[in-house]
Amino acid sequence: MKADFMTNSFPPQEKKFESERINMVTVQILDRGITDTAVLRSMRKVPRHLFIPKEYQKLAYDDGPLPIGYGQTISQPYIVAYMTEAVKPMSDNIALEVGTGSGYQAAILAEIVKEVYSVEIVPELAKESAERLSKLGYKNVTIRFGDGYKGWKEHSPFDVIMVTAAAEQIPQPLIEQLAENGRLVIPIGAPEEVQELILLEKKNGRIEKHRLTFVRFVPFKRL
Ligand code: SAH
Repeated sequence: MKADFMTNSFPPQEKKFESERINMVTVQILDRGITDTAVLRSMRKVPRHLFIPKEYQKLAYDDGPLPIGYGQTISQPYIVAYMTEAVKPMSDNIALEVGTGSGYQAAILAEIVKEVYSVEIVPELAKESAERLSKLGYKNVTIRFGDGYKGWKEHSPFDVIMVTAAAEQIPQPLIEQLAENGRLVIPIGAPEEVQELILLEKKNGRIEKHRLTFVRFVPFKRL
């Protein structure tokens, strides 16, 4: 009895993170209206604290973005869930992410879709996130260093495209690399200002544009 009590009163750190994560999904994501069960399942599963520098790990399941070095941030969990639901990811889909950062959004997608390709413009982040995802056992994510403005033509067309840095306008190559019935989400607006999250859908070769909500992202850069 005593031993059990002792174990329960000093739960391993991982258990604590797991219960914080389950709680995060309920309070920050489910209660705010995200209903896609695949998105909820993925957000409950991916260990967000392992995508965050040690000094901020205890804040991993808080309701906000966090620094990941090189002046970049991992997005607020709700925004990750909201954007992922917006692109309606399906199990047979091929996805492109522009702005790998920590690799967290790529992992969230990788739990749902068939294949994820992600481009990152900061070489150190591209390397670190590729190592992180491979250590975590993700075999369906490929990361490369480069300017995501050009997309990743060799693996196109993409059913899903997610841009996680704020651009002044939608890069034309990304529109071209979007599959028929594909969905693209991107924050549009001036850097350092509030931006608008835009959803594009390609239907019969035509682009439909939907304005979703207001967000604040780090700026889209060019090489
Ligand atoms: N999705 C990330 C967070 C994104 S922060 C995560 O889950 O952690 C935005 C990222 O976009 C930064 O890492 C930044 O370096 C990258 N970025 C900015 N402009 C880019 C470009 N043109 N191509 C690729 N990555 C870019």
